Amino acid sequence: TLDPEAMFKVGFLDDVHKERPVKPVVTRFPPEPNGFLHIGHAKAITVNFGFAKYHGGITYLRYDDTNPEAEEEKYFVAIEQMVRWLGFSPYKITYSSDNFDKLYELAEKLIGLEKAYVCHCNDEEIKKQRGGESHGPRFRCAHAEQSVDTNLAEFRGMRDGKYKPREAFLRMKQDIEDGNPQMWDLAAYRVLEKPHHRTHSKWRIYPTYDFTHCLCDSFENITHSLCTTEFVQSRVSYEWLNKTLGVYEPMQREYGRLSITGTVLSKRKIMKLVNDKHVRGWDDPRLYTLSAIKRRGVPPGAILEFISELGVTTAPSVIQLARFDQSIRRYLERTVPRLMLVLDPIPVVIDGAEELEVDVPFSPKVPAMGSHEVRFTTTVYIDRSDFREVDSKEYFRLAPNKTVGLLQVPHPIKAVSFSKDEATGKVTEVRAVFDKETKKPKTYIQWVPSGSREVQVRIHNSLFKSEKPDDAEGGFLRDLSPESEIIYPRAMIESGFDEVKARAPWPEAAGESELGKGGVESIRFQAMRVAYFTVDPDSTDEKVVLNRIVSLKEDAGK
Ligand code: ATP
Ligand code: MG
Ligand code: MG
Repeated sequence: TLDPEAMFKVGFLDDVHKERPVKPVVTRFPPEPNGFLHIGHAKAITVNFGFAKYHGGITYLRYDDTNPEAEEEKYFVAIEQMVRWLGFSPYKITYSSDNFDKLYELAEKLIGLEKAYVCHCNDEEIKKQRGGESHGPRFRCAHAEQSVDTNLAEFRGMRDGKYKPREAFLRMKQDIEDGNPQMWDLAAYRVLEKPHHRTHSKWRIYPTYDFTHCLCDSFENITHSLCTTEFVQSRVSYEWLNKTLGVYEPMQREYGRLSITGTVLSKRKIMKLVNDKHVRGWDDPRLYTLSAIKRRGVPPGAILEFISELGVTTAPSVIQLARFDQSIRRYLERTVPRLMLVLDPIPVVIDGAEELEVDVPFSPKVPAMGSHEVRFTTTVYIDRSDFREVDSKEYFRLAPNKTVGLLQVPHPIKAVSFSKDEATGKVTEVRAVFDKETKKPKTYIQWVPSGSREVQVRIHNSLFKSEKPDDAEGGFLRDLSPESEIIYPRAMIESGFDEVKARAPWPEAAGESELGKGGVESIRFQAMRVAYFTVDPDSTDEKVVLNRIVSLKEDAGK
């Protein structure tokens, strides 16, 4: 069986802990509140929260809100919800902007240490100073020679509105001889004339990521600051700033990002899909935002298991959608009850039969789930795909003169005749009898009794045709698959559904507790011979809407 904590016991994360085996471990998950979280962020959440939890420590959820141009209130709420849904509880929720006063003071201190100066150079001049296109010699501008007093006055001028955006910025005085561009006098503060959602119009200057992140980590006594490998070069400047200011020094280490092929994760692209109504919203089950994955019915435990299975190293993980599906399937197989659902029902009248109650176990694999009664009526509904007008040798379901088993019903049935709608050519009814001679039919099919509840079923397939929608000719919108959502408007589900709903989520299944709050998506079941399903929030009292979570087998298609 799979151990979701395996990822912390060996390899990269174990090494990181051995390097600094302190107690308690303190980590942070630092999203920028400028978009919804996606599957990649689930890795960051699991790594940061999971690592601390494994070592008996704590984790901050810190909104890295230093860029008022891109941040919005709705993202704060959605981000916290997803962290909690994944089963993690922040020790505290903090904001980089809580520290604006403290950061400002430290910027003045840095100036006092002759380690920062106010610069008025433009992009082109800065590029030249950094060696330009030809990687020539690097040099500093005259601003770097200003006195502490001038820099202080200029910095306060920036703060007090003397400069427009881009007219001035505070630069750290690092080490331009260092081969690492992160040491080439990075920006620490810039002028931005946008009100901030929390500090409103108090500030006209905002600290950069390079100035803010390491200091906020230090303020919160973060022991291990875990981030993705695009920050490897930033480690030097991260360490430089804390050391120069003489504050507590957290340890930054970098792991590989998680990316998924066959879909798009960029905010701009998902926004386009939403705005052009190619999907039902940011939480459309065909997307890979965390809210979409939740709506699709994927259990949070399956996501954690998936990430744990991939493991954490410094290399990026590039994963196909099918691999993610495989993890989900394996998780659901042992944790959810089974029911009978018919996507495209046709009635089968069983002549001479009598009604009876049949006992249907919720799971043949997990007897502890118990069972429920389904009424066998003399007319039952089976799936259109389980009947053929013309029999053939290698076909083992229902056809004229052919016998098939009905799941849990004592006797198999044999079709006798059928009727068709002349206009559509579709079979409208099958007549059958019990076949008491055949003891063991080759196949058993699912069925539902007459009077069963009608539901709408949405089958989701990949939104895109190719593995690399981003590379598609004419752009990712040209790669949209016409079959990404197939709707069965009048599917039928047996009455056991009510008990599955009432008992959801089903924690007894594998001795695991269900994580997060129980929304409709925590109602999950396997529709035997069809797929795994959950309830969609579009459901009303009159009509239940079901989403396919994942097919029963890889490549099961529709
Ligand atoms: P995106 O551009 O996809 O929104 P981001 O890096 O801007 O990603 P942040 O809000 O800054 O997103 O992310 C918060 C944390 O999540 C950061 O520590 C970041 O490194 C991590 N993270 C983001 N995307 C991934 C990913 N695909 N795999 C692992 N960690 C990720
Ligand atoms: Mg982001
Ligand atoms: Mg970012």
